[in-house]
Amino acid sequence: MNPTYDFKGQVALVTGAAKGMGLATAFAVSGASVVLADLDGELAGREARRIVDEGGAAIGLACDVAEEVQVAAMVDRTVSEYRRLDMPFNNAGIQVPPSDAAEEPLDNFERVTAVNQRGVWACMKHELRIMREQGSGAIVNCSSLGGLVGLPQRAAYHGTKHAVIGMTKSAGVDYAARGIRINVVCPGTIDTPMVQEMLEGQSDAMAEIMKEQSIGRLGHADEVAAAVLWLCSPGASFVVGVALPVDGGFTAH
Ligand code: NAD
Repeated sequence: MNPTYDFKGQVALVTGAAKGMGLATAFAVSGASVVLADLDGELAGREARRIVDEGGAAIGLACDVAEEVQVAAMVDRTVSEYRRLDMPFNNAGIQVPPSDAAEEPLDNFERVTAVNQRGVWACMKHELRIMREQGSGAIVNCSSLGGLVGLPQRAAYHGTKHAVIGMTKSAGVDYAARGIRINVVCPGTIDTPMVQEMLEGQSDAMAEIMKEQSIGRLGHADEVAAAVLWLCSPGASFVVGVALPVDGGFTAH
């Protein structure tokens, strides 16, 4: 993975970096200094030490992206440690249990919105305050196939993921001429702890997922990381406000 990109001298910030596709991206961003931020700061710290052991530069810290104060502190810490910010991947997100739209508990709606939508909003806000001074960099947000299509029982989660695309496009057109590109990845079903948890809870879930998988398998976290790195690379220098499906063809039919 990532044999060609060299992000030497750049600073990456990944939220939700202790597991899944955030972790894969933090490990793949070779050459850059990386801040791994996660609700689980201890695990983020351990993963950062593994990167350091492999010869990279990394720190791990605790941050709940649903809390703007913590997001501001995360960005402050990044800049005090590494002096700049070039490549944030605003990846942290959660699922809530599937629900009929007429039955969805308010708590689920509030929780998923606070993390998935307000979290990305707060991250972009505080990252852009640093990046607009530099006049350079690339932000990648994390949506989902759920940002592009609807599925039964998913109104709350899909609503947040549609919102991430809307925020990306609006901020993207605002900042393109100021040297900052903002794009969004839309993963399909990727084999991460989030999906493993979902599969444990529903015995027929894998068969259901496979019905829709054009490519006939789940995606790997590395395959999302590869798309994120491309969006941050000079190869994507004219790519702005794009919602890039990385879904094995799910949204193609
Ligand atoms: P995961 O659950 O495997 O890992 C997510 C990480 O985010 C965990 O380490 C968790 O501690 C952290 N996190 C959760 N809430 C947080 C918060 N409030 N603040 C900071 N960190 C928090 O998830 P994943 O599958 O790697 O998913 C990553 C992103 O991709 C999410 O936004 C998710 O919605 C999205 N996504 C996942 C899939 C999939 O199939 N796995 C598909 C589409 C989109």
